[in-house]
Formats: sequence, structure tokens, C-alpha cells
Amino acid sequence: MQPVVLITGGAGYVGSHACVALIESGYLPLVLDNFSNSSVESLRRVARITGVQPQLVEADVRDASALDSVFRSGPIHAVMHFAGLKAVGESTVQPLRYYAHNLAGTLALAKAMQRAGVRNLVFSSSATVYGEPGIEQLHEDLRCDPVNPYGRTKWMIEQMLADLAASEPGWRIARLRYFNPVGAHASGLIGEDPRGVPNNLMPYVSQVAVGRLDRLRVFGGDWPTPDGTGVRDYIHVMDLADGHVATLRHLLATPPQLLTLNLGTGRGTSVLEMIRAFERASGRAVPYDVVDRRPGDIAACWADATRAAHVLGWRTQRGIDDLCRDAWRWQQANPRGYGG
Ligand code: NAD
Ligand code: UDP
Repeated sequence: MQPVVLITGGAGYVGSHACVALIESGYLPLVLDNFSNSSVESLRRVARITGVQPQLVEADVRDASALDSVFRSGPIHAVMHFAGLKAVGESTVQPLRYYAHNLAGTLALAKAMQRAGVRNLVFSSSATVYGEPGIEQLHEDLRCDPVNPYGRTKWMIEQMLADLAASEPGWRIARLRYFNPVGAHASGLIGEDPRGVPNNLMPYVSQVAVGRLDRLRVFGGDWPTPDGTGVRDYIHVMDLADGHVATLRHLLATPPQLLTLNLGTGRGTSVLEMIRAFERASGRAVPYDVVDRRPGDIAACWADATRAAHVLGWRTQRGIDDLCRDAWRWQQANPRGYGG
């Protein structure tokens, strides 16, 4: 029998790609999502790619009785917990919503897992937990000091999970700190579908290239970086999805433990480098203006990716040209996302 993995937030951007990677690795995803930031269409597309329609429970991850009935419905081997809110700016305006969905959501899930005796958990954390560390290459052992409510929810959850793992034998927990997930499945059938005007670089660039937005604003041309623009570690979403499968395999094959891993490429790319790569991939111009720095941004950061390589034997396979090509294929085939 194929092992069942409960995927909270499985209809979302990273979760839907993780469903594909899991199915292709012999797992059966069972998705729990409230569709607050996604569409059921993404799961239909997962079925088109893989030939397997993930089972779906439409529910809020904070709903204890919905969780209990999911865990009673049949054996669940592990949980991947993607459900949550993720917009840094919005989290400064609506912090309690972020604490409710992210922190209270994870608390409800962990309690339900405890009641059900399911103790294998892969959690979506973020490089935002590091805050503004003053160095560029970020190692997992750096002191965390997040600088916004979103980052603080992730850091508090990480600590809550560490307390849980220390309190009770048998927990296998991975806290995965993503750098900047971008791109789409190579089929162009699933990808990132932000609501409203995107905040992040990659979806903004794709929407400019496809003509849905006029011009990109490059936030700052005077950063202390080689070309003056911000530098980040962009990881292809399918590399990220494969990293989740590698993590799950590792957790299930080793004694109970608490793992903390960066998932990134270990390389930085500037905004201008990204624009040029996207222009190459799409054959379209991406007009831009260099404007003031965005409040709260840092100059440059990228992952120290050595621990994940050492522990999991996993490293990213795809580069900037691959992720621009796949993002463009998704954008062109779905100029309005899943909505048409
Ligand atoms: P997303 O918004 O596309 O996916 C999140 C999914 O969770 C959506 O389908 C949404 O409907 C669902 N959801 C939200 N609140 C819920 C709730 N209370 N109950 C049930 N479902 C709920 O986001 P994503 O980019 O796929 O991110 C997935 C996870 O990875 C998030 O936890 C996010 O914080 C984390 N992460 C994302 C990034 C990124 O840049 N995409 C970076 C670092 C970490
Ligand atoms: N950025 C930009 N214009 C945009 C969005 C982002 O110049 O419209 C820059 C931003 O200043 C940063 C990089 O692109 O240097 C990545 O930003 P994003 O919001 O995608 O990720 P994060 O800041 O969370 O790492």
C-alpha cells in the first residue's frame, strides 16, 4: 500500500508542486486546504500531470474536529504542513491574522497529530527567520531574529516544534527554511498564481513580460552588491518539491530527530541578472525603472546549502535559465493564472 501523506495547503503554490513530486515518488497525497489563497483547479492539474487525483478535504487547519476526522479516515504516515499566510507586508498590517493562521494553525495540527499518534512532520519555514543578520551566506546555526510578524510566526512555530520534539519520544520533525521559491512545473500546467498585484520579483517580472503589467520597479540601484541591485537565492519550485521528498525519505529512514535545513541553491542572483535571464527565456523585453529601496529589504542573502546536501544527499538541479523558462511557459499558457 502506498504511504499516505497529509498535505496541508496542498492546493497552493509550493504544496501543489510537492504533490506532483510525492506522487512521482510513490506517495499518496491527501490534501487539506481552505482555498483562501488557491484554487481547486491546481489539484485537477496535478491529476493531469501525474494521472493521480489527490484526495481533498476542504477545511481550515485550525479546525480540530476536521483534523481528527482526517486522521481517523485511514492510516496517515506523515504530514507536510504548507498551510499558512505568507505576505510580509500584510503581516505588519494584520498581525493577529498571521498569528491565528500560522501559529494557532500549527498548534491545532500538532495537537491533532499527537492525538492520532502521527509523529512525522515536515514544516515550511522560511529564511525570513534569520532577519537582518549582517552577513550574506546564511547557515542554519545563525542566531534567528526575524524583523516582521510573518517571520516571527515562523520562528515561534520552529521553537514550538523543538519543544514538542524534546518533550515526547518518537517525533521526526523537519523545519525547512526556504529561500526564494520561483518557477513552475516544466509542463506549464501548475505554477504561482498570486492574487492581485504580485509583491515578489518573479511573478511581477512574468506579468510585465506577458503584458499584464506595464513596467517593473527595481527597488534600489545603490545596494552594496556587484551591480547595485538586491541579491537573493532563487530556488526552482520543483527542486524545492524534490527537497521535501528527500527530507521525508530521510526522516522515515532514520531515528526520531529534529532537523533544521536551509533549502536553497547556495548562489545569489541580482535583480538585473534575473531580468536579463527572463528576457532571454521569453524573448520579450522587461521594461523597468530603478526606484527607491523598499523598506525592510536587505542587500543580499543566499543559503549555505551544505547541510541539506550532506544530510539528505540532495542538491538543486535547476538554474536561473531553467526557472525563467518554466515560469514563462506557465505564464504564457495561463496569463490570468488558474482563473483563465
Ligand atoms: P500559498 O498561499 O500558495 O499556499 C498556502 C496554501 O495554504 C493555500 O492553498 C491556502 O489556501 C492554504 N491555507 C492558508 N491558510 C489556511 C488555513 N488556515 N487552513 C487551510 N489552508 C490554508 O503559499 P506557498 O507559496 O505555497 O507557501 C507554502 C508555505 O511555504 C507557507 O507556509 C509559506 O509561509 C512557506 N514559504 C513560502 C515561501 C514563498 O516564497 N512562496 C517562502 C518561504 C516559506
Ligand atoms: N524586487 C524588485 N521589484 C519588485 C519586487 C522585488 O526590485 O517589484 C527586488 C527586492 O527588492 C529584492 C528581490 O527583488 O531585492 C527579491 O524580492 P522578493 O520580494 O521576490 O523576495 P524577498 O525580498 O522576500 O527575498
